Amino acid sequence: MSDSESPKKEVVYRGIAVSPGVVRGQVYVYRPQEVAIEKRSVRDDDIAGEFVRLEQAVIKTRQQLIEIPQHIGKEMGNDKPGIFDAHLLVLDDPMLMEQVFKRLKTEKLNVEFILHEVANKYAQALAKLQDTYLCERAADVRDVSRRILRNLAGAEHDELQRLPGPRIVLAQDLSPSDTALMDRTKVLGFAAEMGSRTSHTAILARSQGIPAVVGLHEIGREITSGQEALLDGYTGLLIVCPSQETLYEYGQIEIRWHSIEDRLSSLRHEPACTRDGCAIRLGANIELVEEIKTAVEHGAQGVGLYRTEFLFVNRQEFPTEDEQVAAYSNVARAMKPHEVIIRTLDAGGDKVLRGGEHSREANPFLGWRGIRFCLDQPEMFKTQLRAILRASAEGNIKMMYPMISDLQEVKRANELLNVCREDLRREGKPFNEQMEVGLMIEVPGAAMIADVLAEHAAFFSIGTNDLIQYSIAVDRGNERVAHLYAPTHPAILRLIRNVVAAARARNIWAGVCGEMAGDPVMVPLLLGLGVNELSMSAVAVPAVKYIIRSMSMSDAQALAEQTLRCGTAGETATQLENFARSVAPELMELIRPNKP
Ligand code: PEP
Ligand code: MG
Repeated sequence: MSDSESPKKEVVYRGIAVSPGVVRGQVYVYRPQEVAIEKRSVRDDDIAGEFVRLEQAVIKTRQQLIEIPQHIGKEMGNDKPGIFDAHLLVLDDPMLMEQVFKRLKTEKLNVEFILHEVANKYAQALAKLQDTYLCERAADVRDVSRRILRNLAGAEHDELQRLPGPRIVLAQDLSPSDTALMDRTKVLGFAAEMGSRTSHTAILARSQGIPAVVGLHEIGREITSGQEALLDGYTGLLIVCPSQETLYEYGQIEIRWHSIEDRLSSLRHEPACTRDGCAIRLGANIELVEEIKTAVEHGAQGVGLYRTEFLFVNRQEFPTEDEQVAAYSNVARAMKPHEVIIRTLDAGGDKVLRGGEHSREANPFLGWRGIRFCLDQPEMFKTQLRAILRASAEGNIKMMYPMISDLQEVKRANELLNVCREDLRREGKPFNEQMEVGLMIEVPGAAMIADVLAEHAAFFSIGTNDLIQYSIAVDRGNERVAHLYAPTHPAILRLIRNVVAAARARNIWAGVCGEMAGDPVMVPLLLGLGVNELSMSAVAVPAVKYIIRSMSMSDAQALAEQTLRCGTAGETATQLENFARSVAPELMELIRPNKP
């Protein structure tokens, strides 16, 4: 796609800020194109040539399918990601290729046309089957045939590998293979029409430190490659053709950011301690082993949430026990003596595994998710529990279960954990007998029975991302209702208060590991409500530490009391903003500017 000169008037698009930073540059609109398939007759003499073309395209495709996962593996710190295993299986499927060869000989048409026809028919037949696993293979067949067709046409798959220069990439969404092929040195920032804070693009952007804004509703048609733009990953704006005033304003913001960043980074080794001497543990949320480095650089004192899903997604088979032990031990060793809280697999919802288990659920967030999925597959779950236990010999590991909604689930999970402990003892494999096991509180029902659950937990970690969506019925990943997603809703404050009170009564600690914990405006409220630990994406740690060091706990407690009397999310939000502005005006000016 070529860059083009274009207009003129500033247009501001608002989306969801998912990875901080401001960048300015040309936009590159990424729209993976379909190859046009024409139908032509082939002379008898040319049939052999068509065979050869197909064979060469298949060889090239195979090579790409092997290389891409290796690339992704390196990026993700996982040496055996199975992302394209299924695609390779399609390529090796005799049914597909034999059909193509047979029809080439009898119909004497060009190979593109025949491959397209055969693959479509095959995919349609698979899609009609009842078996969800086979149904999912239909998408693989389409993907692979598209790739072969593009190779036959000599079309590029890897536009993103050959960006014409430093660019802000605008896409509808970005797939794992898109992001793997991208030339990172030229990607200034991401802007995506779809997605949420937890979408793949958002997670990857944050872990790579690339500014990103998502949820920019269907703007791709209005913008063309080559237009100048400014991407603000702090406030979630994409400003196309920024005016001189906007550029000036952002220039000023940049100067202030640099000065505050210097101050923030000078706090890296300082404790997160309020003015009246209360120390708070600040952990990092990580998805990939490689994020540990960033976590340490930003001054995190441990990992408060290790989302293990990334070891499981996009592959045909679950990771083996040894593979998991290696991943968890790496993190534990790198963070030693600080703690690492490993969350057991939270598959389902928006974290869809590859094996077809989760296709076709009418309400995936209310479906086969988190602990439910694991308890239904005890062998798979036990493999993970054994791996976590074994890694606990390597560092300060704690473990927690996601999506708990009921005491029975906790009991059942702990029974399986005890079986694993006994097996490991018998096998003479070392593990930490005292490893603490906590619960994520992210379902309103669990928050309401926190007193019951507290008797069976060493700690609570409140997952506000889900707690909010379930409490006020707002899909956390749907950009259309993003404006209704209100962390300051009075129901959320009351639920958190309830959880903290239950934890205190049993003498266990309660942390927050949802995105709320990484927002400096929310932090005084959480601490005032009595939360003991906060875990967030690593890039958020410095600003959160800054506000903690700027406030006193007694003021935060008064603020929490005051906001608990508010009737609406808006009122609470205003009080929190006012508080943050009064204690850390210079930080607020940057993260919550009143414009543009
Ligand atoms: C949460 O729900 O707040 C949480 C931390 O878990 P996740 O975002 O992975 O669902
Ligand atoms: Mg959650």
